Amino acid sequence: MRFSSVIGQADVKHRLKAMVRDERLSHALLLLGREGSGGLPVAIAFAQYLCCDRVTGRNTTKIQAAPASLFGEPEAPAEAEKTVSLPDDSCGTCPSCVKAAGLMHPDIHFTFPTISRKPGSPSLSNDFAAEWREFIKLHPYGNDFDWLQSIGAENKQGNITAAECNEIVRVLNLKSFEQGYKIHILWMPEYLGTEGNKLLKLIEEPPPNTLFLLVAQDDARILATILSRTQLIRIPPLVTEDLAAALTERTGVTDQQAMATAVLAEGNYREALSILQHNEEDWQSMTRDWFNAILKGGPVAQVKWVEEIAKHGREKQKQFLLYVNHLLAQSIRLRSLGDRAPVMQESERDFAGRLNKMATLAQQQAMVDELDSAAYQVERNANGKILFLALSIRFWHIIRDNSLILVE
Ligand SMILES: [Zn+2]
Repeated sequence: MRFSSVIGQADVKHRLKAMVRDERLSHALLLLGREGSGGLPVAIAFAQYLCCDRVTGRNTTKIQAAPASLFGEPEAPAEAEKTVSLPDDSCGTCPSCVKAAGLMHPDIHFTFPTISRKPGSPSLSNDFAAEWREFIKLHPYGNDFDWLQSIGAENKQGNITAAECNEIVRVLNLKSFEQGYKIHILWMPEYLGTEGNKLLKLIEEPPPNTLFLLVAQDDARILATILSRTQLIRIPPLVTEDLAAALTERTGVTDQQAMATAVLAEGNYREALSILQHNEEDWQSMTRDWFNAILKGGPVAQVKWVEEIAKHGREKQKQFLLYVNHLLAQSIRLRSLGDRAPVMQESERDFAGRLNKMATLAQQQAMVDELDSAAYQVERNANGKILFLALSIRFWHIIRDNSLILVE
C-alpha cells in the first residue's frame, strides 16, 4: 500500500517521512487512533515506504540527485547528499514494493489477535497469513471485531499469545533478508496480556535496523510497560472533506451523499462504509417510532418496536445505536451553539431541535452513555431483544419527566 492509498492524514504522513529524512526515526512507534481513522493503513504504507528501493536507494543508478541510502554503511553521507529530499511516496513498482503490497515482504512482519483453532494449541499470527492478506485487501479500515469475525471467531475471544511473543523475538533476531529494515507491525497491542512483557527487552534494545510499529485504538488498554517504551504518534479522526472525497472516489456515491455520510461518520471510514450500506434505511423514522413507543406507546408498542429491530442483524442494530447517538450529539451541539452549530441537514436539525425539547442536557448525556454501552454489548453478541427492551425502559426512566411527545 502506498501513502497515496491512505485516506487523508497528510500531517501524519509528513511527520513520518520527516523522521526518516532527518534520521530521527525511533525504533518503536505507537500509532494511536480511533477505529476507522486509518492507523493500520498508515503503518502498512510506512513499512512499504521504508523498504521501497527508491527510498533506500538500493538497485537504483545514482545519477545526480539519487537519495542517500538510509540503511547503508553508517558512514556520514557526502555533504551534497544530506540535503537531498526523499521521495514523497514509495514507488509501487520496485520488487520491494510489489512484495510489500502483497503483504509478502520477507522483512515486514505482522502480529494481530487470533483465535485458537484447536483447543490447547496456542495460535500464531502466521497461521492466519492468508486470511490476513485477504482481510487487508478487502477491509483495510476494518476493526478487530471485523477481523475476528472474518476468521470465524464468533463468540471466541481474540488473543495475542505468549507463543506469538516468542515468535516475534525469534524473527526479529534473525538477519534481515534484504539488508534493510526489519519491520514488525503489531496491530492491537490491547490484546497483549502480561505475556507482552516478553517484548520489553526487544522494544528497549532492539537488534540493529529493527522497527516496531504498534497500531492501537485505546491506550488505556495497553500495558503501561509497553506504552512507556514507545514513541506516540496520534492518528486523528479523518477530516470530513478527506473522508467524503474517499467515499466518492471509492464507492461512487454522489458528492452530496458522500458529504452527508462523512458528517455522520465523524472521521471514521469504516463507519461511513456501513452507513452507506444501510443507506436505504430510514434511520430517522426508526428513531421517531422508538421514542414514540417509549414515551406514549407503552409496553405493547415498545415490545412491538423491539421485535422489529431484533429482526435486523447485529451490525444494523449497532448502526442504529450509533445513529441515535449521533442525533443526540447534534442536539447537544444545537443547544449549546445555536445558529453557530455545524451545518446539518434540514430534517436532522428539526429532529435535533425536538430532542432538545424532549430532554435536558443531563438527560441527553445519560442517554448517550446508555447508547455507548449498548453498542459495546451488541458487538459482543448481546441478545437484541433483551438489549433493546432494557434500553427502552432505561430511556423511559431517564426522560419520563420531560415527556413532550415527538411529532408523528
Ligand atoms: Zn518501490
